[in-house]
Amino acid sequence: MTTTASPTTPQLTIDGQTTGSTATLPVVNPATEDVFVEVPAATTEHLDRAVAAAGAAAPAWRALPLARRQEIVRSYAAVIRENIDELARLLTLEQGKPVGRAAGEIRSGLAYIESFCEMDLGPEVIRDDEKERIELRHVPVGVVAAITAWNYPQMLSLWKIGPALVAGNPVIVKPSPYTPVSTLRAGELAQEVLPPGVLQVLAGGDDLGEAVTRHPGINKISFTGSLRAGKAIMAASADTLKRLTLELGGNDAGIVLDDADPAAIAADLYAGGLSNCGQVCAGLKRLYVPRSRADEYAEALSAVAATVVVGNGLDEGVDMGPVQNGVQLARVRGLLADAEAAGADVFFRGEAPDGPGYWHPVTLVRGVTEGLGLVDEEQFGPVLPMLTYDDVDDAVARANASSMALGASVWASDVERGAQVADRLEAGSVWVNQHPALSPEVPFGGLKQSGIGVEATRLGLLAYTDVSVQRVKC
Ligand code: NAD
Repeated sequence: MTTTASPTTPQLTIDGQTTGSTATLPVVNPATEDVFVEVPAATTEHLDRAVAAAGAAAPAWRALPLARRQEIVRSYAAVIRENIDELARLLTLEQGKPVGRAAGEIRSGLAYIESFCEMDLGPEVIRDDEKERIELRHVPVGVVAAITAWNYPQMLSLWKIGPALVAGNPVIVKPSPYTPVSTLRAGELAQEVLPPGVLQVLAGGDDLGEAVTRHPGINKISFTGSLRAGKAIMAASADTLKRLTLELGGNDAGIVLDDADPAAIAADLYAGGLSNCGQVCAGLKRLYVPRSRADEYAEALSAVAATVVVGNGLDEGVDMGPVQNGVQLARVRGLLADAEAAGADVFFRGEAPDGPGYWHPVTLVRGVTEGLGLVDEEQFGPVLPMLTYDDVDDAVARANASSMALGASVWASDVERGAQVADRLEAGSVWVNQHPALSPEVPFGGLKQSGIGVEATRLGLLAYTDVSVQRVKC
């Protein structure tokens, strides 16, 4: 296990030390298709060392008073904030998003971390009288593995690191092989303030993720990614009965009611579907508009889309970067091609750079309905299908007819009526006149096959604990 990369290349972090590997993971800049860095790839030997270090660090970390852990986690957040420019640049290089949005992603993740630093963990006194004192304690689960996706690498890892540490658990982070760089760098920076073994970062492919899920020294997996991988993780975790938080995909519907004003809501509808190049788990992926007003929405959405500048996220004035990787680009193109072959009407196709890079223009589609991959599956790219309906009951039934249920929205001028329709939508988050809306004081998670458990808030914190009861007979 030797360091093969240059000293400026972010390394694995194990037991408070940066560590290289004989194996490397090439990381492609999606705006150029060049390998811009080769980071060390962790082997199962690295994983064993990291799990051993986490296990060794666990007793002292959980023994610290909650307030002290929170103080240390605040210092960790401060270190990340001090280095936000460097981290945002790395995030843009690996993920493709505009650098201002990359910094915004990190700031947002830090706001979640800081919210966990204000929370109380108990104990809760169930009974305290002359006969018995009974306390419910929220105890740490043990070693946590955080496995993350490529669309929001920083935010997703910060969402998991914060509550895991505050609850008293060491964490091993395994970022996506497409976007490991900024997470590795954040792991290095963390060592300035965290005790060795408390936060470790291992880069690697899906095989490393599989080894993490099978590892007997890991007690909980907090996963954000695809339904396919989520199911595999759940199955592999059964053997060691790991605790699970699964944040999986979505196929969010948005229903626009007939009283909504196209000009007033078009920008928000657009952002709901196409921000982060459409690569948002809780992004608007199926837009239902009244048939009688479809032309107005096509016009209003096209007007917004026409203002969007697609380009290299490091360049000034860019609103949207490339699709993050070539496999995803091929998938988005395939879904669109199938829809066009079935007669879809592409009513807007924007500009995108020529040449290398995983570019896809902003594409707005109508004349589609359920039964097409572009509607039934999570497209996860800058293509938004607009469907029509004649009757709200029908729109609600179609919106709910999905095995995924992460987010859903209703758009209306009469907000009360909008809320009444929203009551009938099945999703972990249901919004009126916005999509998505996430914030640290609100739990986030999916119903049906969009996931298990929630992140954020005290509910999210408690997901990194088990319940232990103490009963003292007086
Ligand atoms: P992915 O499932 O392919 O990969 C995610 C992570 O899991 C990566 O680190 C990968 O190496 C690892 N992994 C893959 N197979 C594994 C296995 N069998 N065992 C253990 N680990 C494994 O997902 P992706 O393509 O990186 O991300 C896109 C998906 O993530 C989309 O479906 C999107 O909706 C979802 N997502 C969900 C949320 C949410 O909060 N619900 C947020 C962001 C992304």
